[in-house]
Amino acid sequence: MIAKVIVDVPTNQTNRPFDYLIPEEFTHVIDIGMRVIVPFGPRKILGYVVGFEERTDVEKVKSLEEVLDVTPVLTPELLRLGKWLASRTLSFYISCLQVMLPQVLKAKYKKEIWRIEEHLPEELENLFQGSDVLTSEEWEASSFKYHHLKKWVDDGYLDVRYEVKSKETKRKITVIEPGAEPVRLEELIAEIPAQAKKQRALIDFFVDYPDPIPKKDLLNFVKTTDASLNPLLKKGYLQSYSQEILRDPYEGHTFTSTSPPPLTRYQQQAMDEIVDSVKNEKPDVYLLHGVTGSGKTEVYMQSIQEVLARGEEAIMLVPEIALTPQMVERFKGRFGSKVAVLHSALSAGEKYDEWRKIQRRDVQVVVGARSAIFAPFRNLGLIIIDEEHETSYKQEDRTRYHARDVALKRASEHGCPVVLGSATPSLESFARAQKGNYRLLELPERMNEQAMPTVELVDMRDELHEGNRSMFSQSLKAKLEERLQKGEQSVLFLNRRGYSTFVMCRDCGHVVECPYCDISMTYHRNQERLKCHYCSFEKPMPSKCPECESKTIRYFGTGTQKVEEHLQQLIPEARIIRMDVDTTRRKGAHEKLLTKFGNNEADILLGTQMIAKGLDFGNVTLVGVLAADSLLNLPDFRASEKTFQLLTQVSGRAGRHEKEGEVVVQTYTPDHYSIQLASTYDFNRFYEEEMKYRKMFHYPPFYYLTLLTVSHPNTFQAQEVTRKIAQYLKQNLSETAEVLGPTPSPLERINNRYRYQTMVKYKSEPDQQKYVQRIMNYYESEMKEQNGLQIIVDFQPYQLM
Ligand code: ADP
Ligand code: ZN
Ligand code: ZN
Repeated sequence: MIAKVIVDVPTNQTNRPFDYLIPEEFTHVIDIGMRVIVPFGPRKILGYVVGFEERTDVEKVKSLEEVLDVTPVLTPELLRLGKWLASRTLSFYISCLQVMLPQVLKAKYKKEIWRIEEHLPEELENLFQGSDVLTSEEWEASSFKYHHLKKWVDDGYLDVRYEVKSKETKRKITVIEPGAEPVRLEELIAEIPAQAKKQRALIDFFVDYPDPIPKKDLLNFVKTTDASLNPLLKKGYLQSYSQEILRDPYEGHTFTSTSPPPLTRYQQQAMDEIVDSVKNEKPDVYLLHGVTGSGKTEVYMQSIQEVLARGEEAIMLVPEIALTPQMVERFKGRFGSKVAVLHSALSAGEKYDEWRKIQRRDVQVVVGARSAIFAPFRNLGLIIIDEEHETSYKQEDRTRYHARDVALKRASEHGCPVVLGSATPSLESFARAQKGNYRLLELPERMNEQAMPTVELVDMRDELHEGNRSMFSQSLKAKLEERLQKGEQSVLFLNRRGYSTFVMCRDCGHVVECPYCDISMTYHRNQERLKCHYCSFEKPMPSKCPECESKTIRYFGTGTQKVEEHLQQLIPEARIIRMDVDTTRRKGAHEKLLTKFGNNEADILLGTQMIAKGLDFGNVTLVGVLAADSLLNLPDFRASEKTFQLLTQVSGRAGRHEKEGEVVVQTYTPDHYSIQLASTYDFNRFYEEEMKYRKMFHYPPFYYLTLLTVSHPNTFQAQEVTRKIAQYLKQNLSETAEVLGPTPSPLERINNRYRYQTMVKYKSEPDQQKYVQRIMNYYESEMKEQNGLQIIVDFQPYQLM
């Protein structure tokens, strides 16, 4: 028998199954979806079995070395999904298989240099110093080069051996059980000297509880140590063995169990429709639209309950940042041990064990971030994506997939519905719901029947005219002080991303935009120029405002640290917690700061994006947004949409409970529709406005996009390759496709590599993948050389930089 194996070598030439003979010993254990170790050239590497055949045309076919799994790690469905993913994203099949699995199932490769001759030349003997083997690190640290190694291998002194190991580790514990029947134990106690009290107590323990018990627990209970236990094990009175256990990241944590409350009319309607599709096994897609607190999560949970009752399984995706202890609490409280949780704060071992609970069918529900969409369930009944508009559902490196697309694909395979939930759906999804491709479910009311907090828009231009040059308006300052007096808390939000790239007049609020694209131009400091990264139009940085001639035109640049300093000067008695990438780098720091804030150990929480979601504190009655424009002026056609989403989201942080909340939004463009409409929570009107703009400028959801980013240490090379690619696409794609560029990326240089882009806007280009693949093949050799060319293709990009 022959196994078809996808090998762990991500290149174009190896992007196909290779044939290996299955040795006799493995013929009964090997299965599709298992990991194997195979010889490949001089090396041994990891591979995945994707099929079997009776015979092969390959001459001198090699045998596979080892089978690593007893249960397949990939189901046949996931193998098909991997193939689909590879063609959708133009990635290697192997990368797509690996993206579906926990890190620890990837291979660890070891290279060693072995002595195969007793007497080595002197210089080598000095290096080996009598030992038989050197690690490749030891070899590299020596003064010898690769050509020396090759010569000594050819001369028969040395051999290079490769070893491959799986990184997985299983956690084992020691378990103790009695070595005799309970009745005999009493007699044994009598045989132990009276002064050995602890030994007696250890045996006595099993008289009442003869079941095996973890050693740790036993010693804890009897309050003793190995010193007392070991003699008993030696005599055979007690026995020990080791047992594999799954790590539980929530060990020691008790979850209060909850039962489902009766649903409101709207909730019930939504759930009935979803459950109807579950029962009829129809892959319908629902868009559940409802503001924060409208009861979406309760609809998810009760729908999942129906799915479980049918003996099926459910995947619930939430953005990483929203996977808070509160969220886990709710799911564990409702579904108990039926839930696995997958998110990045878990250790690699914990993630693996959570994943194995799914693989072993110990659980039926997974709550997790993006990659949980690949949970190896075999009997999916429902997939839910909460906060579906979140861009973190798109993977931004290697296999550039969107979890929503994968969800739809899996749903069609399993015949199960998908529910997309959000208070501010993406334009793409809402447009599909409007067209009837998705089914729209609305939850128009908040559960606590409280209105959303009122939003005050503060025009920062007026502040400047009144002589206030600080970044805090009079109104915000007064409100912060008021909270301090009342012992209530405030959250201040600052968006840092892209903060320093756009240029604005502080006098009139005018932002310099590209005359051809209606997108803010990007400031490139080293040349003192403004560039449009869509069409490459550029001009020098103006010295005065083209609108009002004021000289206060400048680019924006302020970090959270600076804001904290200013704030402290402004309100010296305030206790401030700053949360940004710098203060949360250490593991667990995020939770610690939030707990501190929750315990009222600070008055003001100041932070970036990361505080926008999930946090739910009853004492927060004021939310301030320092510079609403910073997101609005990103060189991104989704800037307005992101601004609307973010403002809606941060506003939802105030007045979550009994106390009423208030929101202050500082802006230089209070008339912009996304800011205006966010302040009145009017999603539908925002949708209409934004759709006009998208239509006019040919953006999604009216057009699809493909973004190719070329980088090279030489700026001319990068530009030239991009130009050729753009030209090739122009020649081959249909008349209706628009090919833009080459244009410098807004992040023009990263790591001394220059980056250029070309963007395709299109309605339908069935052959596009083929042409892009040809481009990649054409440049493959140039891309391999060190420091050479790199081309990244992103279909339906979310990050345009
Ligand atoms: P969302 O997910 O839209 O933010 P949730 O499902 O979290 O909304 O609901 C908001 C609050 O209302 C939660 O505290 C939840 O427990 C409660 N809740 C939701 N549905 C009901 C219901 N039918 N009866 C009573 N309380 C509910
Ligand atoms: Zn101006
Ligand atoms: Zn432009």
